[in-house]
Amino acid sequence: MLNFQSSIFNNFMRVLITGGAGFLGSHLCEFLVNKGFDVVCMDNLLTGDISNIAHIRTEKFLFINHDVTNYIYLDGEVDYILHFASPASPIDYLELPIQTLKVGSLGTHKALGLAKEKKAVFLLASTSEVYGDPLIHPQREDYWGNVNPIGPRGVYDEAKRFAEALTMAYHRYHGVDTRIVRIFNTFGPRMRLHDGRVVPTFLRQAILGEDLTIFGDGMQTRSFCYVADLIEGIYRLMLSQTNEPVNIGNPGEMTILEFAHLIKNITSSKSEIVFKDLPVDDPKVRQPDIQRARSLLGWEPQVSIEEGLTNTYLWIKDRIQRLMEKGKK
Ligand code: NAD
Ligand code: UDP
Repeated sequence: MLNFQSSIFNNFMRVLITGGAGFLGSHLCEFLVNKGFDVVCMDNLLTGDISNIAHIRTEKFLFINHDVTNYIYLDGEVDYILHFASPASPIDYLELPIQTLKVGSLGTHKALGLAKEKKAVFLLASTSEVYGDPLIHPQREDYWGNVNPIGPRGVYDEAKRFAEALTMAYHRYHGVDTRIVRIFNTFGPRMRLHDGRVVPTFLRQAILGEDLTIFGDGMQTRSFCYVADLIEGIYRLMLSQTNEPVNIGNPGEMTILEFAHLIKNITSSKSEIVFKDLPVDDPKVRQPDIQRARSLLGWEPQVSIEEGLTNTYLWIKDRIQRLMEKGKK
C-alpha cells in the first residue's frame, strides 16, 4: 500500500529526472519541487526545451545538460531515478530512429546502473506502444502486445520493450527496486506546436483556421489523459511498492474524427476537416484498462477531456500569439 506520510517527509529526498526538460519531465520537475524534493533534471535538449523549466527558480532544482546514453556521473545520494529521456512523438522518433533506440537501450542501462550504485528506486517511463496495434481491447498489463519490430514505429516500441525487459532484469538479478509506468496518450501545456502529435496539431490548426488533417478515415481510436492526472498517477506509483507495470491513462476512448469535432467545438473554429494517408502501423485502437492503477494506487483521472483541452487550447493560443509577435509561427 501507499505510504505518503513517511515518504514525503523526507527532509530532502533527492530525485533525478532524465528527460526533465521535455513535456512530461518538466511537469514532473515542477510537481516534485513543489512537494519538497530536491530535483536534478538531466537532459540533452534533443526534443526538450530549456524554456520548459526556466521558471523553476529555487536552490532545490538543478539542471544538467547531459546525453544519458553516455555514462552518468552524479555526486551525492539519490533516492529516486525517473527515466523519461526519449523522443516520444511519432515524427520525432521517425526522424531520430537511432537516438530513440540508443536512449531506450544504452540510456536505460546507464540510468539503471546509477540506480543500482545509489540504491535508488528506479521508475521507467514506458508506453502504451508496447502493446503495438493491439489485438486485445482495452489493454490490460498482462497483454504482451502486437508490435512490428521492423516497421518504422518499431524503433520506439522495441526500445521501450527492451527498456522494460532491462528494468525487470535489474530488479530480479540486482535487486533494484523498480517501477514501470505504461503511459497512454497524454496532453497538456508545453507540448511542442509542431511535434506532430494529434492534440497540438489539431489545436494549432484550429486556432490558425487551417484544415484539421485526419490521417486515414478517422475511425482509429485513442484515449487522452490530461497531464496533471498523469503526474499524480506517476507520483503514486513512485511511492508505492509496485514492481509490475501499471497503465496510467484516461479510459475515455474516442475516434480521431470525434476528437476533431471536439476540437472544433472547444475552439469555436471554422476549420475544415480533411483526410490524409494513414502512417504505417498506426494502431487502430487504444484504451487503457486502469483496474491495476485503481486498486494498487487508488488512482483514476479527475480532469475531463473538455477541461484539459480548454487549458491546453488557452496555453497554445498564448504561445502562438507570442511567436507571432516575435515574427514566427
Ligand atoms: P519529450 O520529447 O517532450 O521529452 C523527452 C525529453 O527527453 C526531451 O527533453 C529530450 O531532450 C530528452 N532526451 C531525449 N534523448 C535524450 C538523451 N539521450 N539524453 C538526455 N535527454 C534526452 O517527450 P514527452 O512526451 O515528455 O515524453 C517523455 C517520456 O514519456 C518519454 O520516455 C516517452 O516515451 C514517455 N511517454 C510519453 C507519452 C505522452 O503521451 N507524452 C506517452 C507514452 C510514453
Ligand atoms: N493523427 C491525425 N492527424 C494528425 C496527427 C495525428 O489524424 O495531424 C492521428 C494519428 O494517425 C493517430 C492519432 O491521431 O491515429 C494519434 O496520433 P499521435 O501522434 O498523437 O499519437 P499516437 O499515434 O502515438 O497514439
